[in-house]
Amino acid sequence: MKVHNFNAGPSVLPNEVLYKASKALIDFEGSGMSILEIGHRTAPFIAVMEEARSLVKELMQLDDDFEVLYLQGGATMQFMQVPMNLLDNSGTAAYVDTGVWSNKAIKEAKLFGYVDVVASSKESNYNHIPKQFTIPPQASYLHITTNNTIYGTQWQMTPVTDVPLIADMSSDIMSRSMDFNKYSLIYAGAQKNMGAAGATMVAIRKSMLGKVTRKIPSILDYKNHIENGSMLNTPPVFAVYISMLTLRWLKEQGGVSAIEQLNDKKAALLYDEIDHNPLFRGTVVKEDRSKMNACFVMDKPEMEEEFLKFCKKEDIVGIKGHRLSGGFRVSMYNALPYESVEVMVEAMKYFSLKKA
Ligand code: PMP
Repeated sequence: MKVHNFNAGPSVLPNEVLYKASKALIDFEGSGMSILEIGHRTAPFIAVMEEARSLVKELMQLDDDFEVLYLQGGATMQFMQVPMNLLDNSGTAAYVDTGVWSNKAIKEAKLFGYVDVVASSKESNYNHIPKQFTIPPQASYLHITTNNTIYGTQWQMTPVTDVPLIADMSSDIMSRSMDFNKYSLIYAGAQKNMGAAGATMVAIRKSMLGKVTRKIPSILDYKNHIENGSMLNTPPVFAVYISMLTLRWLKEQGGVSAIEQLNDKKAALLYDEIDHNPLFRGTVVKEDRSKMNACFVMDKPEMEEEFLKFCKKEDIVGIKGHRLSGGFRVSMYNALPYESVEVMVEAMKYFSLKKA
């Protein structure tokens, strides 16, 4: 264990994934070549891509209408690729605004059709998830951001609606059990719970396609990617390989429901300290707290710098809050060991005693 890595993303990866990837970087499965040196259309790499895609389906228990793709351009590209493929010029898409990332998605969708922002928690600096909203029945889809990485809020339930549901799950994908089949499209940058930056996972229902009239450039058309087995052009081979190893690791841990239990334990330990330590205060309403990114501040902000320095000495890294929410953000993705949260909590306790 090097340090206690609470980075928000890219973030901590399982040690064994890093170890296996480092070996494959030199000699991939005894081929005498690096994984970076083999053609993406060779049988060994096609096997990597197929295993990654099928592990996503298996771990998320997706039904047969779903196709899984590994694309480039980050979750940010999905902000525009989703409406380009699914929202007609004359159509309406419903979006819930829960922070920076939803806002970026909304901005891009407006380039393609009409956007109805059905709810927003902006007025309260995004400290909660809106609960009351009406979705226009003619909407082509409803888009939500299941976990808000910057503000530390997370949807605790799936909205009930007849319109197709689309989610940016970049920062909580595969961290908890949910009925993923309620969604019509799910996307996530791989660099938090699914591997390394450079690959973006898109799980899409085939039945969603072919409904818009606009011409779609080949590389942006989901249909082309599906027809080409997620190999329309050269995929980000190393990032896909790391994602495959990370998903294998997750399966070995017992899958999504097993990691959820660990994630629940980690979050409970940290939030309990935030709630009981007089120096710290959580920034979002309790019922909407994220189990991936815990955001909190100090009542005496002048002490924050000192606490950060203290943590650094304890090998705790990546806890400085995003500039928009201030204070601290402790990210606890799937690969973060429970022991790291114990060390974090000990540091909070010790610092508090020192200041008492
Ligand atoms: N959505 C969410 C919820 C995120 O947390 C992030 C990145 N932190 C993004 C989208 C953007 O992802 P990318 O950098 O892969 O484009």
